[in-house]
Amino acid sequence: MRGAGALALTLLAALAVVGPAAAADYTGPLIDAHSHLPNATAIDAYVAAMKRHNVRKVVLLGVGGVQPDEVEWIEAAVKKYPDLVSAGVRVPDPTNMAAAGQLDVELARTKARVMGEVHIRQASRKIERDPSAPAFMKILELSAQRGVPIVIHDELTPAAAASLEAALAAHREAVIVLAHAGEAKPRDLERLLGRNANLRVDLSGMHFQRTPSLAKEKGPLHPAWKALIAKMPDRFLMGVDALAARLFEPAMLDRLMTWTRRVLGELPPDVAERVAWKNASVLYHLD
Ligand SMILES: [Zn+2]
Repeated sequence: MRGAGALALTLLAALAVVGPAAAADYTGPLIDAHSHLPNATAIDAYVAAMKRHNVRKVVLLGVGGVQPDEVEWIEAAVKKYPDLVSAGVRVPDPTNMAAAGQLDVELARTKARVMGEVHIRQASRKIERDPSAPAFMKILELSAQRGVPIVIHDELTPAAAASLEAALAAHREAVIVLAHAGEAKPRDLERLLGRNANLRVDLSGMHFQRTPSLAKEKGPLHPAWKALIAKMPDRFLMGVDALAARLFEPAMLDRLMTWTRRVLGELPPDVAERVAWKNASVLYHLD
């Protein structure tokens, strides 16, 4: 007994040195506000993982013009799992002047509550588009009229951020969701969010398999991200950004979803709830 007591004291002393125990994982409801499908069958593995990890809903978005068949995959997924899957309207070409009109028809047909993902700037695919150009302005006008936000992929540089701000300023009633936080630094993003009330940020694809990440697989949530999210808790949505087929392997989905709950668990509980599901629920009218 004495030995056990001494051991307990030693452990307590060790804890006092390393500080309090790590925060518990977030265990509340979770919405994946941004993922994709790589083929017609991946949704089954994804839904199985959602059930294992209590993910209430996934928002499936298009990846731009590169997967012409994804509209069928996504619609089939909604049909098969109507309570778990919500679909966005894909935007094959945001530079086409006819895009806004086509999106209007699709929004009426599908009753979708989000458009995207639209690739504005993506270095790896050599995509460089101006969000303040006329065709995208028309899409933003539609977004404002219908109250349907649009998710964009926009790897921000100072010039890209300036174009984005011009677009945001031209249509204050339209809401733009900046996917993957635009790969921006927290301090730059804070200024952008401060100046543009119609900007939201999804934290999808900032997991340990990518750079920049919010945290390594086992490491702490980066302090600058933690501070910014806690300071502006209504502006952020959580997402996985499942995309490549290899991410749909059950073991990988388990790691991604476990990581997501662990990272959310580092935020104050009321902040975690908003980022985990409440903000997405309001913005995309999910129930
Ligand atoms: Zn994406």
